[in-house]
Order: sequence, then structure tokens, then C-alpha cells
Amino acid sequence: MASTAKSKRSSRGKQARAKPYKEPGLLKRLAAGPVICAEGYVFELERRGYLQAGAFVPVVLTEHPEVVEQLHMDFVHAGSDVTQALTYYVHREKLRVIGREKDLVPMNRIALQIARKVARRTHTLFAGDICNTNIYDPNDRKALKEVERIFEEQVGWAADAGVDYIVAETFSWGAEALMALEAIRRYSKVPAVVTFSVHREENMRDGWTPAETCQRLEAAGADVVGVNCHRGPDTIMPILREIRRAVKCEVAALPVPYRTTPAQPSFMSLTDPCCDHARAFPVGLDPFVCTRAEMSKFAQEAAALGIQYLGICCGAGPHHIRALAEGLGRHPPASKYSADMSKHAFFGTDKRIKAVQTEYRSKL
Ligand SMILES: [Zn+2]
Repeated sequence: MASTAKSKRSSRGKQARAKPYKEPGLLKRLAAGPVICAEGYVFELERRGYLQAGAFVPVVLTEHPEVVEQLHMDFVHAGSDVTQALTYYVHREKLRVIGREKDLVPMNRIALQIARKVARRTHTLFAGDICNTNIYDPNDRKALKEVERIFEEQVGWAADAGVDYIVAETFSWGAEALMALEAIRRYSKVPAVVTFSVHREENMRDGWTPAETCQRLEAAGADVVGVNCHRGPDTIMPILREIRRAVKCEVAALPVPYRTTPAQPSFMSLTDPCCDHARAFPVGLDPFVCTRAEMSKFAQEAAALGIQYLGICCGAGPHHIRALAEGLGRHPPASKYSADMSKHAFFGTDKRIKAVQTEYRSKL
């Protein structure tokens, strides 16, 4: 009797600990309306002084985990529905480049732990993340094996951590995106969001069009397909129109918040007239940053196309995410502090603003 009672208690205890997460999952949320996902953490952490431009490996995970947690909180406060684990570029190839392969497992685990904690506290979705390996080469069998290994282990760690879904992002090769999707399907049981990047060239490095790439991903079982990073709002829109027409599944759009142009359609191609037309990427992009109004307009245009998975990638600050959310008619907590110029010292219309100030307005 005693041992039965004890085993019942322990099994109840186990059930309580393993209780599944009750918030609606990604697909349910997408069926109900847009889902906002803040990305681009590595760029923002570089600006804040916690990792180095160039390698862009988030060493901040071990050096200042509290900064990563606060960044997640800032983006949720600004309207992100998702807390995506900062495992971007925490794969063995990038760690090999900076000589820190031994930190592979701890860095992945820390990133997932932090994101899980924030997601559960804020009732946002907890997303895992895998990305471009930078060694994919369709003609190099050894490299392809290593790509498989990178995806398998990172998907495994994400699945262990109990992610709600996994994002695979920023691929230049359609076939590498397909490999990432295959790993998510094989080594986890959660939905897959697969996004790739379009550079100056209109097609993927395999020669596939973005629409064709999305069709292949959809056929291979992706739940959400689309484009992230590299292109700004203006040069991502034509691609999105093609993709939305080409697939039946949900579509994702996460541009960079930079003013890219038809002549320089990706943020890596932007050159700055101020400085001898030098390449602006990555630390001279400030003059090209989109305004909040531009990000709000992007959200409205993409939503009007029927694109439900929306976010912003490298270069996004919380103010951009708030603007995107407000463009969709949301009022995240940070909207409490959205601009109200009626009380401005010179431009204000509030009756408490003195005429001595407002009369000087035209001279400002
Ligand atoms: Zn990005």
C-alpha cells in the first residue's frame, strides 16, 4: 500500500512538472490573426556593445545573459508575440571561426533557457532557431554531412528545451533551407517556420526563384514559408507578392529596417554617398534606418496581402517592433509611451503650453 501511494504521488508529481503548455500554439494564433516575431537580436546586441560585428556570434550569452533576457523582455514589451531563442550563429561552424567550439552546448542551452523563461513569463510563443551554416556547398559531400550534423544537434537541443516551434532562417540556398526543414521534421514534433534571404540577385544561389523555393518548402511540409533579413521593406514587397500567390500555407515576412532601393536592394549592397560610396554594412547603416512610420506602413501592406507572420530582422529596435504592432492595430504595453506631440514645448496644442513657446514655432 505504502509503496503504491508513494508511486502515485511521484507519478502525479511528474505529471505536474511535465504539464503541457496551455497557451495556443503558433498555428492556432496564425489562424486567428497576425503573429509578430522580433528577430535581429545579434545586430541590436552589437549596437548595445555586447558582441562583435564581423563574426556576429552572440558571446553575450555566457558573458552577460542578463542582457539577453532584458532584450527579449524589451521586444515583448514592444509587441513581439514570440520569444525566439538566440541560437542564431551558435552553431559549430561559427564557433569554430572564433575558436570557441567548446562553448557550443552551453551557449545553446543558455540561449534556450533564457528564451523559455521569458516566453513562459510573458505568455509569448517560445521559438527555437537554426540558420545558414555558411559551409553549405552542393558539390561538397563532406560539407553537406556537416550541415546535417549542425541542424540535427541544434534542432535536438531546441526540442529538449520544449520549444513551441522552430524557425529556420536566413538561407541563401533553397536546398539548405530544405535540409533545415527536414531536420526539424525528423528531430522535433513542432511546427516549422522556414525563411530565407534574397540578396542583390533575384533568385536563390541554386537558381530557384523565391516563389519556387517556397513551393518546394511547402511541399516538403513547412508550416510557414517566407523571407527574412537582407531586404528592406521596399525591396521585399515585390517578392512577397509573388510568394503569396505561389503557396497556400502561411507566409512570413521579416525585412531589415533599412531603406533599400531597386539599385541596391539588400542591406549588404547599400553604399553611403557621404563617405566615398563605401559599403555601409554592417556598422555604417545608420543613415539608412527606416522610420517607425515606414515600418508601420510595411506591416499594413504585408497584412493586406494576407501575410500573417510578420516581424523585423537585423537593425530592428524595440521602437520598430512597436510601430509594426501599432500598424496592425495593436496596443502593446510600450504603446503607453507612444509619441504625443500635443504636450511638446513648442509644437504642442495642449492649452497648458504657453503662447511664448508656440509663437516661436516657425523659427525652430
Ligand atoms: Zn537579419
